[in-house]
Amino acid sequence: MSQQGYVTTPPYSQAQPGMGGYPTGFGAPPPQSHYGHYGAPPQSFGAQPAGMLKPAASSPSGMPPPPVSSQYGSSIQQNGAHPQKFPSPPAVSAPAMTAYGQPPQRPAYPSMTQAAPPMQQMTNQMGAMSIGGYGQSPIQSPQSPTSSAASQPFQMPSLPAMGHPPLSPAGLQSPTMSPPMSTNGSAAPSPFQMSSPPTMGHPPVSPTGFQPPAMSACPPMAAGPPMGAAGAPPMGMPNTQPGLPPTGGGGFQQQTGPQGFPQQPGPYGGQMPGSQMAGPQAGAFPGGFPGGPANMAGPPQKKLDPDSIPSTTQVIEDDQAKRGGQLYTTNLRGQVPPLVTTNFTVQDQGNASPRFMRCTTYSFPCTTDLAKQCQVPLATIIKPFAKVPQNETPLYVVNHGEAGPIRCNRCKAYMCPFMLFIDGGRRYQCAFCNCVNEVPVQYFQHLDHMGRRVDLYERPELSLGSYEFTATLDYCKNNKPPNPPAYIFMIDVSYNNIKSGLVKLICEELKTLLDRLPKEEGTESSAIRVGFVTYNKILHFYNVKSALAQPQMMVVSDVAEMFVPLLDGFLVNFQESRAVINNLLDQIPDMFGDTNESETVFAPVVQAGVEALKAAECSGKLFIFHSSLPTAEAPGKLKNRDDRKLVNTEKEKTLFQPQRGVYEQLTKDCVGQGCSVDLFVFPNQYMDIATMGNISTHTGGSVYKYSNFQIQVDGEHFLTDLRRDVERSIGFDAIMRVRTSTGFRATDIFGAIYMNNTTDIEMAAVDCDKAVTVEFKHDDTLSEESGALIQCALLYTSISGQRRLRIHNLSLNCSSQLSELYKSCETDALINFFAKSAYNAVLNQPVKTVREILVKQTAHMLACYRKHCASPSAASQLILPDAMKVFPVYMNSLMKSPVLVGSTELSTDDRAFHRLSVMSLGVEESQILMYPRLIPVHSMDVSSEVVPVAVRCSEERLSETGVFLLENGQSLFLWLGQACPPELVQNLFNVPSLAHLSADMTSLPELDNAHSKKLRSIISTISQQRPNSMKMVIVKQKDRSEMLFRQYLVEDKGLHGGASYMDFLCYVHREIRQLLT
Ligand SMILES: [Zn+2]
Repeated sequence: MSQQGYVTTPPYSQAQPGMGGYPTGFGAPPPQSHYGHYGAPPQSFGAQPAGMLKPAASSPSGMPPPPVSSQYGSSIQQNGAHPQKFPSPPAVSAPAMTAYGQPPQRPAYPSMTQAAPPMQQMTNQMGAMSIGGYGQSPIQSPQSPTSSAASQPFQMPSLPAMGHPPLSPAGLQSPTMSPPMSTNGSAAPSPFQMSSPPTMGHPPVSPTGFQPPAMSACPPMAAGPPMGAAGAPPMGMPNTQPGLPPTGGGGFQQQTGPQGFPQQPGPYGGQMPGSQMAGPQAGAFPGGFPGGPANMAGPPQKKLDPDSIPSTTQVIEDDQAKRGGQLYTTNLRGQVPPLVTTNFTVQDQGNASPRFMRCTTYSFPCTTDLAKQCQVPLATIIKPFAKVPQNETPLYVVNHGEAGPIRCNRCKAYMCPFMLFIDGGRRYQCAFCNCVNEVPVQYFQHLDHMGRRVDLYERPELSLGSYEFTATLDYCKNNKPPNPPAYIFMIDVSYNNIKSGLVKLICEELKTLLDRLPKEEGTESSAIRVGFVTYNKILHFYNVKSALAQPQMMVVSDVAEMFVPLLDGFLVNFQESRAVINNLLDQIPDMFGDTNESETVFAPVVQAGVEALKAAECSGKLFIFHSSLPTAEAPGKLKNRDDRKLVNTEKEKTLFQPQRGVYEQLTKDCVGQGCSVDLFVFPNQYMDIATMGNISTHTGGSVYKYSNFQIQVDGEHFLTDLRRDVERSIGFDAIMRVRTSTGFRATDIFGAIYMNNTTDIEMAAVDCDKAVTVEFKHDDTLSEESGALIQCALLYTSISGQRRLRIHNLSLNCSSQLSELYKSCETDALINFFAKSAYNAVLNQPVKTVREILVKQTAHMLACYRKHCASPSAASQLILPDAMKVFPVYMNSLMKSPVLVGSTELSTDDRAFHRLSVMSLGVEESQILMYPRLIPVHSMDVSSEVVPVAVRCSEERLSETGVFLLENGQSLFLWLGQACPPELVQNLFNVPSLAHLSADMTSLPELDNAHSKKLRSIISTISQQRPNSMKMVIVKQKDRSEMLFRQYLVEDKGLHGGASYMDFLCYVHREIRQLLT
């Protein structure tokens, strides 16, 4: 097999203006990337280019003055409000420098922090909340151990060490929480009291007060009937010493290893509950999560009024009311965008649209110490090819001619609105590394009296957050322009797939689907070539050259040394070879119609695809339709590793780990060739998704799973996915680099990606649904004035074979006030980050440990807010930052997800599948997955166009007389109450009563009445919003299938384990109080 590939070979790994140019002079970042390494000497730069304003090795403390703010800071008023209106994207080939029309509003980046009044609290002084270990005495408290009791601005009320107050509903304040964070700068907390006067109760100190694996997070509640007052936090925390104990290093960020998870059970490993965590009940809760169904028995708890705890649906509704339908202009640095659930229109005025980049917070803490204190992850979720709605401007393509895009000589950042032109326009200072560069002669332009280039608004790269450059040959593999990509369809024709009718279904569909291959805008037909392979234990290649009257089959039975038996005629243009291809697609189902071969190979199939693309010197995608564990004698043969006895043991991680060997090399080969693998699996039993799907997840591909595939029930569902996959916009052979201004840098990166080194994010392909989550860490102090800048550059081959660079820029605020950080948090983005980092961690750590880290970090983040940002209040109050008030419900849902719940009732493949599919999700998709939408259908306004407002995801919201739709982006349920009105049943299903309704139905009949039309329109609207198709499942109340549905009611106790939202909140509150005492 060819060892070629460009992953590690020149020119890509060398310093050139091309991709190889990425690290020129910058050096690889230091290997250390974790908290423990903060304070290491600053990164030293390579050769210092002439003309730098500042020595390259700028000291950590002596940051050069920020170029950005001085350029933009005061200029906003000068320009008036010219809406940015570029008429239309310029032609790709033209130099693209023509006038774009009216000058847009000056992109200005005033620091939002300056407007905010300082927090009245002693944010800066708190040194005690440092990284160390929960519950231990400070190990290495950072310099400022100054925070002592004396400096506490607020005091915990003295509480008896015993007893749990029955929590009266009246004790809860402000069910709707405090008003949304306003611009007044005060971090409006969301206090709600979780307690009432203490009474005697159960000694919280007794670890036996509740059972470790018990589901109930709050022992008191579980124990006493009056306590039903579920919300009652244990009152047992003695109010002794203020000052937070040093914390556990943010769990995910500590320790060594690229993934950042501790390799061994850390301070909060299950091993030592109670011993390290000061509190009496320490350790109980984490152990509580994995509890099996046995623990769920028992009388249901009485609950507080559930309306009194923060509601996700309310937050979504409020944001929609406040910011929905509005124009979101990206001219402000550190501006927090509307929620992903809100409908808004974006106008790019200098920062990338939140559709492309969304951050966990829009105000980074200035110092490492502050970052450690709060443990809020600093991350951005980048969806470089995100769909742009019709009413928003598509990206402009800029052509800088033969010299290629203008880049900083030192850090190789691309020209962008953050660069500062000086010296009459002859030079510019890089906003990322501060290097001063000469402006190339052909790019020179005069500056106006404000110091801005007079052609500012004619150039997308000077005025917009996102744009593309045409790449020169320097950016191409072997300095040759790439060929258009190819799609290869590889169909498993073993017994199962023939018998189920799948093979025939695929072949029929391809005849029309191939007409809809993606094409470059303005071109008549797609440049993508297609090829066909069928296989079971051996592979069959097809010559479908247009000149042939009949397709020709070539068989390769030696799967150990895979090669492609034909070059000419294998990859063809569909339009030209339509007749031969249709002929082939007609024949395939018959050719294998009487097969009894049930064994399959898999790795050789992928290998064949890569070899074919290599031979054709192009990138592309494999569509593999596979149904069984590949047990035939061949490289990559797999065996059944499904052992659920490993669940909740140290070895559980092996269930998620892929088999290595052949597969490791195969993945490398794929990435090197720009070969993405999309896997459609149709299993009837275990097929090691962890291994087979892993190739997809590292090549920018997708995995689709249709268990026990039945053509009548699942056929349309599968075809919808296939159509979307084939048609969606996509780039190939991509390499992405995330650059930052000085003081911080990208450390951990999650997604459907491949990392061969620490900085280049390789993706064999990247489509409009794939997102990469990037975590940042400080390596120096950030300045409030210059903020934090991020530039994501993606080099890729377009569907027509053009090499392009897509650039997204984003500027964030920096603040020495933690309140600014909390105010600018984005809960949905945080959850995306936590989901990916936790799902990555389960490869190396017990699931239980991962859950414990999540709980600890949740408590820590909230405790830090409480301590540094909130107004003084009673300890019995749980106070949440407004921007994070529903964070706990998402976090709890994440811990109950199939990957983390640790239940033997879930199939190993389902869990592995879930894990892999989450790794590339964008924020929108992770949000809906962690908090499904539950829509009351019985009360819908049939005259309205809109989708009805969702209700909270809890059984309590269901009613016997109701009908509800539930969707989470992957599944869609229609739940019918036992007593739902017969007229509605008649209108929706055309049957007289529920008893007549078949639960096999997967779509609604098209009936001519308002209810039917309205519900079908809702389902259609929802389906269009989601990347995957969702099969509708009918659930009748009290039917067996209801269990399936109920696991998505994430506010309730988990069906397979895991606490209710209320219980979780109580537990977290107790943890917070423990941290604060
Ligand atoms: Zn630079």
